[in-house]
Parts: sequence; structure tokens; C-alpha cells
Amino acid sequence: MEILEKDDVKLKSKLKEVFGYSQFRGNQEAIIRNIIEGKNTFVIMPTGAGKSLCYQLPALVLDGTAIVISPLIALMKNQVDQLNAFGVNAQFLNSTLSKSEMNKVKKETISGEVKLLYVAPESLTKEETLEFLRKANISFVAIDEAHCISEWGHDFRPEYRRIRGIIDQIGDLPIIALTATATPKVQLDIQKNLQMDEASVFKSSFNRTNLYYEVRPKHKTKKQLIKYVKSHKGKSGIVYCLSRKKVEEIAELLRVNDVKALPYHAGLDASIRMANQDAFLNEDADVIVATIAFGMGIDKPDVRFVIHYDTPKSIEGYYQETGRGGRDGLEGNCLMFYSYDDIVKLEKFSKDKPVTERDNSKLLLQEMASYADSAVCRRKQLLHYFGEAYEKDCGFCDNCVHPKEKFEAQDDVVLALKTVVLTEQRFGIDHISAVLTGMKNQYVESYGHNQLEVYGKGKDHDIQYWNSVVRQVLLSEYLEKDIENFGVLKITEKGLNFIENPHSIKLSKDHNYDEEVAKEEERQENQTASGHDENLFEMLKGLRKKLAKEKNLPPYVLFQDPSLKEMATTYPTTK
Ligand code: ADP
Ligand code: MG
Ligand code: ZN
Repeated sequence: MEILEKDDVKLKSKLKEVFGYSQFRGNQEAIIRNIIEGKNTFVIMPTGAGKSLCYQLPALVLDGTAIVISPLIALMKNQVDQLNAFGVNAQFLNSTLSKSEMNKVKKETISGEVKLLYVAPESLTKEETLEFLRKANISFVAIDEAHCISEWGHDFRPEYRRIRGIIDQIGDLPIIALTATATPKVQLDIQKNLQMDEASVFKSSFNRTNLYYEVRPKHKTKKQLIKYVKSHKGKSGIVYCLSRKKVEEIAELLRVNDVKALPYHAGLDASIRMANQDAFLNEDADVIVATIAFGMGIDKPDVRFVIHYDTPKSIEGYYQETGRGGRDGLEGNCLMFYSYDDIVKLEKFSKDKPVTERDNSKLLLQEMASYADSAVCRRKQLLHYFGEAYEKDCGFCDNCVHPKEKFEAQDDVVLALKTVVLTEQRFGIDHISAVLTGMKNQYVESYGHNQLEVYGKGKDHDIQYWNSVVRQVLLSEYLEKDIENFGVLKITEKGLNFIENPHSIKLSKDHNYDEEVAKEEERQENQTASGHDENLFEMLKGLRKKLAKEKNLPPYVLFQDPSLKEMATTYPTTK
């Protein structure tokens, strides 16, 4: 007990002494303790929550050198510079070093002076690196951005999959893996690949309560964009586009509209990229228009809005990118423009990729499309996607603020659940909807599902409708998806109870953006009519003539009659 307390003081004082912080955040302390005890540790924490400290501090307390594996040279350099500034001996090993620099790092590591050695996965796999690491006294291995291991993550890096084998060749070392990507699928992949099923898992909530999520149809997008950005005049914001060309175009569009905007993408000269990033960080520019190349490791606390001009490729990516807004805990607005055309375009991009990769990206895109189409609380959907239960509606997203009318779905939910049971819990969402709508396809026929009592029972609705019902039922946990098995749907205890004792359940109809756009256009047309309504003109003309006759004046003067002006502005234009 006493020892523990002493350790307590030691960790806290180290935190203050080296990093200048007086408190640990969230799970940091428990995580640090776990790794100090030599246990494998798996940390899942949102971006900006403070993952780095979870390996930096133990590295200082333990004997020897901690290896930190990080995917980007820029990230490594950032951290090393920062640690050096704190007076910590941290170094990196990557392709940017000269031979003599490399040798110096190796010497200082073997002698035990280096407390943190940052290594790119490519360097790690080199035989000479291995040889040298075997000579060093390594305290533990930290694998930062561990989602790079998984094809289901948004930054898959094949070299990451070799890390485990290499660690084994160095010695029997504790591992701490860290990521901000928390889908159950990715989490499982990481643990499997790193063979750390028994690791202590520290997962923080992914709810970013200060972020407002909003999806709008991609319609007159440029106009909407300008209006939106101008309504945040002088505030920091990021606009993500999918292509470099689009980045340039949008940056230019904003500039000609008096917004201080700069482009950022991998096709720009490194010096320009740096300059633009710095200008954004130093507030010489308000808006950075970028591809997803921008942002990893960027820590600007007061980004007030994040716009996805194009539909993102995955919910993970979307969550990461929106996560760069409101890091100071204040207002953060996340606006995404969505169109199914974007989804189709993105699907085409991955056409030439290997089959599994192509199927993966297709599934991720479908999830993205469902998120956008759904009228369910965005936060609930996001958190569910990350395996986190969120019962109520958040009240702080577009779907909560402008709720769609709900419909009674008791019978349809029973029907959907029954279909899952009758097809023996061996199929995914598309098949369930196919059976319900009475589709004739290869699977339906070869499994004899056209003989089931539920076959065609839902044919009054289309596939989209049933997909939406099933998705909402998943959110309410009447069903669950087997993530290891192609998203096969399984019924839960709660679902079984529902079939036996159904009760009223309200679901929301998906957005139909085409319809919404048409309505909005109609509304706007009526609005502009207040200025140019034909009826109004006709009426004025009539009045003009009449009054001109009465007062014997030329008609145009009458427009100066205040009562007439008043009449013109109060004339009701919307029916
Ligand atoms: P992550 O890797 O989880 O995205 P970082 O490790 O980059 O987050 O940390 C984000 C920010 O939080 C950094 O500016 C860091 O200095 C700060 N930070 C981390 N831990 C603490 C703490 N205990 N107290 C105050 N600030 C902290
Ligand atoms: Mg980090
Ligand atoms: Zn909500």
C-alpha cells in the first residue's frame, strides 16, 4: 500500500516535472501503471485525448529504451522535437537520417541514454535494425496508430502486420498498442495480429459532446459552402475534398469570396505545404482546404468547423476528420455534403484493387451511405459504430434538431426479426431485405427462402425501407452483427423477447435527399417570389392604373406612395 502511494507521488511528480501537467487525464494513470507492471496494454482513446503520454511517461520511469513505432515521419519528428524540448533524450530512426547520424543514435541507444526511440515500421523490418535492437536494453514497445494494422481501418499499412514477428525476434517485451479507431472489427484485428488477446483494454468514450453533426445533400454545394463559411467569418475551419484538383478549385472559390483560404494536398511542393499549414496554425489563414493528407497529428485547438465537401470514404475517416474540430472543448460544427453519386464514384476508384480490399472499401462506403441517409440521431449512429451504447437521442445533431416524423413499426420489426431467425441467422442485411420484398435471386432460390412464410411479406415497401428498418433495429440492439463473419445478423435476447412480446416501436424514415432538395427549391422559389412574383406585378400594375386615373398622375410616381410600398412588402406570397 505504502509503496503504491509512493509510486503515485513519483508518477505525478514526473508528470509535473517533465511535461508540466498537474493532472492525469482520463485513463492515463491506470494505463501507465499497467505498462510499468510489464503487462500488455491496449489503449483506445479519441484523437486529442492524450495517448502519447501513456507511453512517454513510462519510458522515462523504466530502465532502458522504449521503442515507439509510428507510421509517419512527420509525427515522429514532432514528438521527438517536443520531448527534446522537455529535456528528454528521444531520437528517431528512419530513412531521413545519414549514416553517421544513424550510428550515433544506435550508440546512444545501446548505452541506454536514449529513453524513447521512434522507429518507422519500414526501418524496423531491416535486418541491421533488428541486430542492433537485440543489443539494446528495451523496456517495452509502443505501437502508435495501431489501426494501421487493420484493413478495416482507414490507414492500412501492410508493414504494420509484420511488427509482431519482429518484436518476437527482439525479445519478450510488453506491448502497448494505441489507436483512436474503435470499431469492434478493427479492435479485434489489432488484438489478433499483435497476439494480445489477454491485454488489458482501456477504452474511453468516443462521444465528442461539443461537436454538432450535420449532413446536407450535395446540391448547389458551392453556394452553400460560401454561405456557411461566411457565417463563421474569421474562424478557423477545415474543408476536406477528395481530389487535389477539387482542393485547388475550392480554395480559389473561397479566396475570390474574400475568405482567407489556402490549399493543402500531397501534390503541392513540400515547402508550400508546410507554409500553408503554418499559416493555418498561426491564423494567417482562416480556412485550410485539404485532402485527407492534412490533419494527422495536427493539434489546433480552436478549429470551429470541419466541412466534408465530398462524401468521405468511411465512417472512421469521417470521425477522425471531424474530430479535429473543437478540440478546446468549445463549439465545433461538422458539416458533410452527401450524394450517392460520390459513393458510386468512390466505388469505382477501388475497382482495380485486390478483391478483399475492394470488398472492404465497398462495405465501408455502404456504412457511410447508411449513416448519411439515416434520420436517426447522428451521435447514436456514430457511437454505435464504435461499439458504444448510446441510448437516448443527443439533441445536438441535425436529425435531433430537425426530427423527421416517425412511424409505428411494431409489425415490421417483428417481421424483420422473424426473417433473421427463419433464415437461420446466416445472412446479412441485403438478404433479409431481399427475402422480405420477395426478390428472386440466386441466394433466395438456392436456400429455398422463397418457401418461407415471411417471403414477400414486406413487398409493399422497397429494399431501402427494409434496410433502414434492420439498421435501426441493430441500433436498438434487437439484432447484432457478427463482425468476424461478413456482417451476418444474429438475434439478441432482446430481439427474441420482442418477437414474443412485441410492443409499440417508432422508427424514422430515411432521408430522401432528392425529395428534400425539391422541397427546398420550391420553398426558395416561393421566397424569391416576394420580389418578383408575377401576381404582385400584375396587381401593382392594376393599382397603378387605377390610382393614376383617380389622381390624374403619371403612373410611375405612384411607386413613391408609401402606402403602396407597404402593400408591396406585406403582400402574402407563400400559399
Ligand atoms: P492523441 O495522441 O491521443 O491524439 P496527444 O498525445 O497528441 O493526443 O495529446 C493531445 C494533447 O493533449 C497534447 O497537446 C498533449 O500535450 C495534451 N495532454 C496530454 N496529456 C495531458 C494531461 N495529462 N494534461 C494536460 N494536457 C495533456
Ligand atoms: Mg497520437
Ligand atoms: Zn442527435
